[in-house]
Amino acid sequence: MDMNSRSQVFDDILSAARSIAKEVAAPNAADVDAQARFPRETIDALKRAGVLAAPVPVAFGGPGCTMRQLAQICSALSGACASSGMVLAMHYIQVACIARHGAESEFFQSYMRELVRDQHLLASMTSEVGTFGDTRSSVCAVERQGDRFVLNKDATTGSYCAEAEAILVTCRRAADAPKSDQVLVLVRKADCTLVQTTTWDTLGMRGTRSPGFRLESSGSVEQIVPGPFAEGSSQSMVPYSHILWASLWWGIASDAIAKAAGFVRAEARKNPGTVPPNAIRLADASVRLQAMRHNWLALADEFDEIDARADGRQELLGMPWALKMNNLKVGASEAAPQLVHSALQIIGILAYKNDSPFSLGRHYRDALSGSLMVSNDRIAAKSAGMLMVLKDD
Ligand SMILES: Cc1cc2nc3c(=O)[nH]c(=O)nc-3n(C[C@H](O)[C@H](O)[C@H](O)COP(=O)(O)OP(=O)(O)OC[C@H]3O[C@@H](n4cnc5c(N)ncnc54)[C@H](O)[C@@H]3O)c2cc1C
Repeated sequence: MDMNSRSQVFDDILSAARSIAKEVAAPNAADVDAQARFPRETIDALKRAGVLAAPVPVAFGGPGCTMRQLAQICSALSGACASSGMVLAMHYIQVACIARHGAESEFFQSYMRELVRDQHLLASMTSEVGTFGDTRSSVCAVERQGDRFVLNKDATTGSYCAEAEAILVTCRRAADAPKSDQVLVLVRKADCTLVQTTTWDTLGMRGTRSPGFRLESSGSVEQIVPGPFAEGSSQSMVPYSHILWASLWWGIASDAIAKAAGFVRAEARKNPGTVPPNAIRLADASVRLQAMRHNWLALADEFDEIDARADGRQELLGMPWALKMNNLKVGASEAAPQLVHSALQIIGILAYKNDSPFSLGRHYRDALSGSLMVSNDRIAAKSAGMLMVLKDD
């Protein structure tokens, strides 16, 4: 596929995602939130439009969308329904992990073609009872028996695991491996049993359906993603998570500020020739919203530029890049609820009401999840350590 056709394919995917956001995700968002149910109609519409295969490289029949393009798709959806945007972002993170680390494996090559054809939805199980939110350590281990494996895990949180076609599970490389010596294993729905162990009655992101699960699974050893997860995490899982999440948190904030802008304009129309007092707050919020957008866009572009270089993967393992990712994640997850709060102050009581067209309850609750999805304190502690040794360039 030449550059023009690739860009046309992306334009079609983005335009499909925007229509689905408007026509399917937005009208169902309140019900998804109220019932804490999986946004089935939105994900099915995305599957029909081929949006789930966006990160699959051209070599395996996919559109090969860049980080910038994937982030634009996630942000387009999350303004309408943040849970749908988060499901899509988490799915893209998993597809990126197998596309980037399984490209040399015949099994994963064929799985990616299957994903393009059948639009499989992939979930993730990194959290585990006993690891306290540290994604870089596991209690469970994959046990190889000839060309088969057995893998059992007690996960504290597993978004849409019950609805996905496959789950990427972190675990120790073997029963005698240390907790940080991890691999990533693709577990197919047909080869596992999932027992729900906790509930998912949360403040926000209710449609991600993320209770705890006990997983019992088996499969072919080919389903173990080649290479250590330490590399996969730094080179793929962390950058895809933090950039795509930042774009979708911006999508939530952007929709809230758009509501506030609509409210202020309506006020202005009531008294032509005057600027309502809350327009000053809107001007201030617009500065912060723009800064937030440019941060994720710039880092998405930087990732695409680094990744295109022959030695790029090495740079993604380095401390300067890790610090940028940490800063983006912490900054965006703190900025999003603050911007929704500003929108609430601008609109006032109509934003506080649940049954008003200006209601911001769902935006607020959804945005609060950002700082907990890998705890900001945990990330700040890692950044603090890096800043002790990293010198400014
Ligand atoms: C919407 C949503 C969807 C999710 N989906 C998934 C999923 O699909 N799969 C999955 O595996 N997980 C998922 N998670 C889990 C998530 O990513 C985290 O692993 C989990 O929320 C961490 O839980 P915790 O806050 O109890 O853990 P911890 O990270 O242990 O944090 C607990 C508290 O301890 C403190 N703390 C921890 N470490 C430090 C430190 N070093 N310095 C200072 N203070 C510290 C912080 O104050 C923190 O708030 C999801 C979470 C959310 C909110």
